[in-house]
Amino acid sequence: MDLSKLSPKQLLEIDACTRCGECLRFCPIYSQKGEEGINPRGKIQAIKKFIRAQYGLLAKLFGPRKLSEEDLKKFSEMVYRCTLCGECGLQCPVSIDSRSLWLALKEVLVDLGHYPKNIELMKNNVLSKYNISGEDNALRVEWLEAMEGLPDHQYQKEKAEVVFFVGCVSSYYPMAHKIPQSFIRILDRLKIDFTLLGGAEWCCGFPLIGAGFKKEVQKLIRHNIEGVKEKGADSVIFSCPSCYHTWHEDYKTDLKLFDSTQFILKLIQEGRISFKEGRVKVTYHDPCDLGRASGIYEAPRAILRAMPGVELVELPNHAEKCKCCGGGGLLEMVDPELGAALAREKIKEIQGTGAELVVTSCQQCVRTILSTSRRMKIPLKTSYITEFVLKQMA
Ligand code: SF4
Ligand code: SF4
Repeated sequence: MDLSKLSPKQLLEIDACTRCGECLRFCPIYSQKGEEGINPRGKIQAIKKFIRAQYGLLAKLFGPRKLSEEDLKKFSEMVYRCTLCGECGLQCPVSIDSRSLWLALKEVLVDLGHYPKNIELMKNNVLSKYNISGEDNALRVEWLEAMEGLPDHQYQKEKAEVVFFVGCVSSYYPMAHKIPQSFIRILDRLKIDFTLLGGAEWCCGFPLIGAGFKKEVQKLIRHNIEGVKEKGADSVIFSCPSCYHTWHEDYKTDLKLFDSTQFILKLIQEGRISFKEGRVKVTYHDPCDLGRASGIYEAPRAILRAMPGVELVELPNHAEKCKCCGGGGLLEMVDPELGAALAREKIKEIQGTGAELVVTSCQQCVRTILSTSRRMKIPLKTSYITEFVLKQMA
C-alpha cells in the first residue's frame, strides 16, 4: 500500500484518533447500517491496522505483511459507502479533517485497483465526453430550447463580465433544468452582463475527485479556467455547490467565485431585487457541499428572510448539523438503496416541520428529495432557491 497519497498531517490524524466514537453519533451511514466497519472510526482503525502491518515494528523485524484481497475489498466497501457529508470531521473532538482523509484513502484504493467498477463508466464519460452522462457535450445547453423569447446570442456571448457555470446535473437531467432556466431569467431581468460557456463547459472534476481520481482532473481545470478567461470575465457564478467547492479548493485562480445564493444576496443588498408579498411556510435544506464544505449557511437564509410573508421554519437538524439527503459522495452509484434510505429519513424530517415547501441550493439534493418523495408517493414540494426567488420577485 503506497501511503504517499496521505499527507504527513493525515498520517498524524490517523494516529490521533482516540476511538472515542463521537463521530458514530452523527454519521448517517452508521445510523443506517450500524456496522462497526462502515463508519468513520472503523475506517480509521482499519487504515491504522494496514499501516502497522506494512510499516510497524513487526513489519520491520519480519517484513511487511501482504494485505489480502479480502481485506482490501472490505476496506474499499467501507471507504466508498460514504456521502462525504463531513459531519464526522465537524464533530470530532481532535479535529480530524476526515472528509479530506476519505478522499485521500480513495486515491490509495484507486492505485490498488480496489474501487467500485460502476464508477469506471462515469470516469470514462468525464474523460472522453467531458460530462458525467456521456452525452455529446455540445448538448449542454439543450435546456434552453424549452425557453421562450431568447435573445439571438442565446446567452452564449463572445465576451461578458460574468460566466454562469451550469454543471453537469443541471445541464443533462431534465428534473434539474428549471435551475439554470430560472437563474438566467433572474440575471437577464437584472441586466447582468453574463454568458454561458455552452459546449465549451467541461465537468468541473468533482465526480473524479470524489471517486479517488484526483490526478485526472488537471486537464479539466485548465480547460475551464481558459474558457472563462477567453470570455474576458472576472467572475464565475455557480448553481452547483459541488462545482463551486471544487473551483474554490482545487482551481488556483484569481477569478471571483460566487455561489448562486451569494450572488443573489449581493443583488438584494444592492437594492436590485425586491419581492412581492407571499404567504408560505418554507423550510431550508443545507447541501453538504455548500454548508459544511464551503461554510455558506447564512446567504440562503438571508434571501428567504428578505421575502415578505415567507416564514422560514428550520429543520430539527439544520445548518452545521443538517443531515445529508443521501445524494452526496457518489453513494447513488455505489449503493443506491443506502442513498434512498437516507433520503427517506430526510423527507420524514422535512414533513415534521409542517412546511409547505422545502427550498435548497443544490441540484443533486433537489433530484434526490424529489425522486424519493415520488417513489414514496408523498407530494412534497421542492424548489431550488433560484426558482423560488424568481417566483417571489416583484
Ligand atoms: S470522533 Fe474523531 S477521535 Fe473520536 S473516534 Fe471519531 S474520528 Fe476518532
Ligand atoms: S463523511 Fe458523513 S457519511 Fe462519510 S463517514 Fe463521515 S459522517 Fe459518515
